[in-house]
Amino acid sequence: MAVVVVGAGPAGLTLAHVLRAASVDCVVLEAESREFIERRPRAGFLEEWAVRALAERGLAGPLLERAQVHTECEFRGAGECHRFRYAEISGHRHFVYPQPLLVTDLVRAYADRAGGDIRFGVRDVALHDTDTDRPAVSYTDPETGERQRVDGVAVAGCDGARGVTRAFVGDGRASVARHDYGIGWLALLAEAPPSSDCVVFGLHPRGFAAHMARSPQVTRYYLECPPGDDPDNWPHARVWSELRARLAAAGAPPLTEGRLIEKRVLDMHNYVVEPMAYGRLYLAGDAAHLAAPIAAKGMNLALHDALLLGDALVSFCTTGDERGLRGYSAAALRRVWQYQEFSQWFSEVLHGASSGDPFKAGTAAARLRRLLGSPTAAAAFADLYIGKEADS
Ligand code: FAD
Repeated sequence: MAVVVVGAGPAGLTLAHVLRAASVDCVVLEAESREFIERRPRAGFLEEWAVRALAERGLAGPLLERAQVHTECEFRGAGECHRFRYAEISGHRHFVYPQPLLVTDLVRAYADRAGGDIRFGVRDVALHDTDTDRPAVSYTDPETGERQRVDGVAVAGCDGARGVTRAFVGDGRASVARHDYGIGWLALLAEAPPSSDCVVFGLHPRGFAAHMARSPQVTRYYLECPPGDDPDNWPHARVWSELRARLAAAGAPPLTEGRLIEKRVLDMHNYVVEPMAYGRLYLAGDAAHLAAPIAAKGMNLALHDALLLGDALVSFCTTGDERGLRGYSAAALRRVWQYQEFSQWFSEVLHGASSGDPFKAGTAAARLRRLLGSPTAAAAFADLYIGKEADS
């Protein structure tokens, strides 16, 4: 009897690898094609603890060869630049590695090298008997059009924010705590080399802006915009003129322009499903919680859940020890809530200047001055920003 993993994102693939490495049977069901998931652009920042954990499982070879290492970030506002050297303070760094590359590495490790079972393009996935010790998942086979059923000992819901497993537990089986920021971010990918050697946060009365490297050829940018805004309201010239205005500061290098290869509006919100388990269904990654990309936490949390759940399922499947599974939700939620709190706190710093509310603008500016001026505040921020010791 297998563990059925629904979804082949960073969470599902990492979990599948942990199971396979311990010879636990596993079937991964993915709605999209392999080509699609290996190209879908999203996250890019991995925290050092996550890279170390992947390396311990033999999953970080290409990452360690190719990732850039970031140790600083920069705040720009009122025409000034302030560097924040978080690695010097915390001893931990970020690794810049685009999510599609990580997904490609994980599919190779699980399916090509370890011969793991992964079924792409599945349709109409449905859950069955999750409150028993013989749960199952059914789906329509994309080639034959026939319904198939996989019986298992447990189901891992790793199918992201719009999958079936979150909808299933959210339907009265668990509570969903949600926070709406009431703002939008225009998420952009530009075919242009990074214009700084670190992440840049632009605090501007017309709206927040950010610059984040992805690779030597591609850079992610964000521009605050009204929630629900139409990306067509943002033609090339407007995007670049707003980025130049909102990221301007004395001594800052000019932005290198490039073709915009992704342009979408994210309505910024967070949610947490609690508990992250229902019977023998266990949620991991965005299926259980979403952290708006304010502090680049989502992919890191997905990996954290997957490693915890993987170890718990291995213990259960190999020795019958259920303690890890019983404690999984509470253990995962500790880091989830730390990251949610940090994202919310940081959002107030980043969006104060553009809030139109002099009180919010004043308190945001006070927080930033404290962060840049007080070693104690800087140390607390650096640890949270890099996710160090966040399991309390
Ligand atoms: P996903 O990556 O969403 O994977 C879920 C998988 O399930 C997908 O492959 C999907 O096709 C599949 N699926 C869906 N429904 C079904 C179904 N019914 N049946 C079978 N399969 C299904 N995070 C960071 O840490 N750092 C960043 O810098 C960062 N930047 C981001 C920028 C943007 C624009 C966005 C949108 C997100 C960003 N994130 C970032 C968040 C990060 O991308 C997610 O948190 C991460 O993808 C979560 O991984 P996951 O495996 O839980 O879910």
